[in-house]
Amino acid sequence: NLDDPSLSSDVVSKVTSHPCYSPEGHKYARIHLPVAPACNIQCNYCNRKFDCSNESRPGVVSKLLSPAKGVQRFVKVKERIPETNVVGIAGPGDPLANPAATLATLKAAAKQDSDVHLCVSTNGLALLELVPSLVKVGVSHLTITINCIDAAIGAKIYPWIYFNHKRLRGREASQVLIDRQLAGLKAAVAAGMLVKVNTVLIPGINDHHIEALAQELKLHGALLHNIMPLISDPAHGTYFGLTGQRQPTEDEVAEARAAAGSNMAQMSHCQQCRADAVGHLGQDIDLDADESVKPVQQ
Ligand code: SF4
Ligand code: SF4
Repeated sequence: NLDDPSLSSDVVSKVTSHPCYSPEGHKYARIHLPVAPACNIQCNYCNRKFDCSNESRPGVVSKLLSPAKGVQRFVKVKERIPETNVVGIAGPGDPLANPAATLATLKAAAKQDSDVHLCVSTNGLALLELVPSLVKVGVSHLTITINCIDAAIGAKIYPWIYFNHKRLRGREASQVLIDRQLAGLKAAVAAGMLVKVNTVLIPGINDHHIEALAQELKLHGALLHNIMPLISDPAHGTYFGLTGQRQPTEDEVAEARAAAGSNMAQMSHCQQCRADAVGHLGQDIDLDADESVKPVQQ
């Protein structure tokens, strides 16, 4: 609620000028630069042949760019769509599992346009240590995908994580991930970033747990909660451990948003856009070989 008197005018302005944070921000456009291929965890709903389904639409393969090519793309797109005011890194893997490429790209984008909002989306495993570097390059908007705060549930979602040069599995892995996500969330909020949390709603796995999760997110200072339906389609890259996991119905998504809504402001206009998305939300444009801009059907 933007009328909340506890929100500073700086926060309100950052919220209303970002297309993903507020419907009022829809007059602005964003560009995702796909510079981050690696990931440090495995989600059961992810097929690595496609983009990170924590933030992006599954079934889309973004062509990887180097940081230099990424910034060139931003400059070209900004010439054609001057209202592009957000540069985001959202994959195709986890941006913070590729810190050098992610930070170099953001830094160079800010050099080109000092008014741009820098945005990062992450699973949170590597966030805590990177908060100071993100602040230093000027990241103002951060998304963390947190699907649960209970390691028994997490063990059904994450078969493994790679942390401190070790592969961890089962409950141990998800407990480390959850602890790191919450500590990273707290640190990012303390550092002044606006933090949105994405949760992938998975029927029978985390749907009964959404209210408890939202309570915890509020306690840790998250600003906005985005409950995204699992898109379950083996042909398009989401396979959920090959178990035939179904996706939630629209009613189930509405129920989950209502359960979370007593604690957390809910976002319901998310387009689960691709890791190389360009343009206004819901109106992605494609870049052909010479990077000229043309509309694409969603
Ligand atoms: Fe940022 Fe996510 Fe919106 Fe991209 S889709 S601009 S990463 S909040
Ligand atoms: Fe896939 Fe993203 Fe999960 Fe990594 S964080 S396993 S890229 S869905």
